[in-house]
Amino acid sequence: MDGSGLPETRSTCPYCGVGCGVLLRPDGRGGLDVRGDPDHPANFGRLCSKGAALAETVGQAHRLLAPRVDGRQTDWDTALQQVADRFSATIGRHGPDSVAFYVSGQLLTEDYYVANKLMKGFIGSANIDTNSRLCMASSVAGHKRAFGADTVPGTYEDIDEADLVVLVGSNLAWCHPVLYQRLLSARKSRGTRIVVIDPRRTASCDGADMHLALQPGSDVALFNRLLGTIHERGAADAGFLSHTDGYDDAVAAALADDAAVTGLSSRQIEAFCALWIRTEKVVTIYSQGVNQSTSGTDKVNAILNCHLATGRIGRPGMGPLSVTGQPNAMGGREVGGLANTLACHLDLENPDHRGAVRTFWDAPRMPDAPGLKAVDMFRAVGDGRIKALWIIHTNPAVTMPEADAVRDAIAGCEFTVVSDISATTDTARLADVLLPATAWGEKDGTVTNSDRTISRQRAVLAAPGAARPDWAILAEVGRRMGHDRAFDYDSPAEIFREHAALSRIAGQFGRDFDISGFADLDDRAYAGLAPVRWPVTRTRAGGRFFADGRFFHAGGNARIVPVTCRPPAAKTGPRYPFRLNTGRLRDQWHTMTRTALSPRLSAHLPEPFIDLHPDDAQSLGIHAADLVQVQNRHGQAILRARITDAVQPGQVFAPMHWTGETAPSARIDALVAAMTDPVSGQPESKASVVALTRF
Ligand code: SF4
Repeated sequence: MDGSGLPETRSTCPYCGVGCGVLLRPDGRGGLDVRGDPDHPANFGRLCSKGAALAETVGQAHRLLAPRVDGRQTDWDTALQQVADRFSATIGRHGPDSVAFYVSGQLLTEDYYVANKLMKGFIGSANIDTNSRLCMASSVAGHKRAFGADTVPGTYEDIDEADLVVLVGSNLAWCHPVLYQRLLSARKSRGTRIVVIDPRRTASCDGADMHLALQPGSDVALFNRLLGTIHERGAADAGFLSHTDGYDDAVAAALADDAAVTGLSSRQIEAFCALWIRTEKVVTIYSQGVNQSTSGTDKVNAILNCHLATGRIGRPGMGPLSVTGQPNAMGGREVGGLANTLACHLDLENPDHRGAVRTFWDAPRMPDAPGLKAVDMFRAVGDGRIKALWIIHTNPAVTMPEADAVRDAIAGCEFTVVSDISATTDTARLADVLLPATAWGEKDGTVTNSDRTISRQRAVLAAPGAARPDWAILAEVGRRMGHDRAFDYDSPAEIFREHAALSRIAGQFGRDFDISGFADLDDRAYAGLAPVRWPVTRTRAGGRFFADGRFFHAGGNARIVPVTCRPPAAKTGPRYPFRLNTGRLRDQWHTMTRTALSPRLSAHLPEPFIDLHPDDAQSLGIHAADLVQVQNRHGQAILRARITDAVQPGQVFAPMHWTGETAPSARIDALVAAMTDPVSGQPESKASVVALTRF
């Protein structure tokens, strides 16, 4: 209860991976009152501008209220039967790998679990991938290489207790604002030093002691220099190194790398290395500037190498912390929602793991090889290998690299299903079947945030029109495809218990992800579930990984991975002389399906723009507020010029939010080249090459 005496419901903000707790109270007019939950361990009552404006974004004016087939409104029975029949017929004619699901970090864990089970266990293909591929796939790959499992070792409390926090490729102030507020509090109370490593001067630099504006893509060279300096100064932790393999090879690779490619001065590099080495309690937070790169996995390992070499991992106030963009990217990782993973952090390519999951699900078939990752999936849609595609809560016609080609591929697909809350997204307009899904505030389930804390999202508003929860839509299609027993779910609580029971098997294989303590959770306990960090067994809840030196590779040691800096894949030259960096704004979320409903949020930066350096503006004859044509061989955009030395000469920055619906000439991902990291498959969204002209 708050002061009004009306009951409040605990839930979780649906935007970023910080996973802030919120208290919701329906206002009796179809809307909500929202405030930060003072008891949630992610935010202790704080909210950022997006979370504080949640109440303004729950209106129904834009909602898809009934299923549509070929543009005509219909009933659920007709729509679902059409989906089941077309997928079954396609699989019958062309095999299971002729169909695909492209899902989203906006899904709740229970929705994600059912989608993954249907595709991998019952359709028999691994062609399920997620927009989280664009967000943190390189972190997953880096964790697995170093730790033997996709384990996030750091926690938010580490930020409170650190003496040095290094932000790498992370504009925490705008993209994870409540964590940035926690960091500023720590700075105030204990004098925490802050270093920002980013080619661009962002809002996060305002409170920083040091900004290292390195050249795009050169992070590996910088962290290799740090590892080399750790070695040369005898700062490695000899005791902890006994829990690792590969140190000598990684140091040799590090010493052979050339830090000059960073563009930083020797003095800057020395100052950073000296500060890092003399400060034991150091947390390295990294995000899309690291992950969204053709060397993203190597960048992650270059960071992890320094923490492993010094034993600064798993202990209070120290460790690497990958912060995810989406509210439930972590839940998607847990259920195996990527094309190359299996549920509960088991390995798709391990026959014992595969067999155990197949037995648990009593599944008729399981794929024995990874499916198509996002970029390859849409290429396969474009060339006709994928003939039936189900897109759930994401807008790839705007957000995928080479978005014009992706839009055309979806338009040409034989059969496309889209589940969403709106009928007017660029992707929804291309659907053969549109399925109305419930939105945040109307649906029930769990999410996992960036520090492994599982929280409940709870329904406090009635579902509008015929909208249904995603788990129920997916389960009904599974039943109509002939798998009655496997998808006979009545509630998200039932799905959560099944996921928890499956995690017991993962525990038997010595995997990290274990929530088996929830396998017998009754509906009432699920309804009241308080935020909790996994693992959760019968005897343990929460805790830390790795301080004891035990990792998840066979043999139990971590791997310090030799890495060498590689430049971005696309090369600048006379035709395309500028490097394009893309990213988020403080007050918008993804393609603005919800945040654009708030006048307050839309007022922050209301129109699409491009930032360019004053020297470049002068040489091109471009003035502030001019329209600029940005183009390359993949597409073009027309954007308003902002002249600023926050970007370096030869580099430009443009936000990624605008769509064909909101600003057709500003779909910036149309210009992002679909070049990917060879290990993670994550595209390089921050280093494409473009030409600029005054429009
Ligand atoms: Fe929501 Fe992220 Fe803001 Fe927290 S920091 S209120 S989770 S958008």
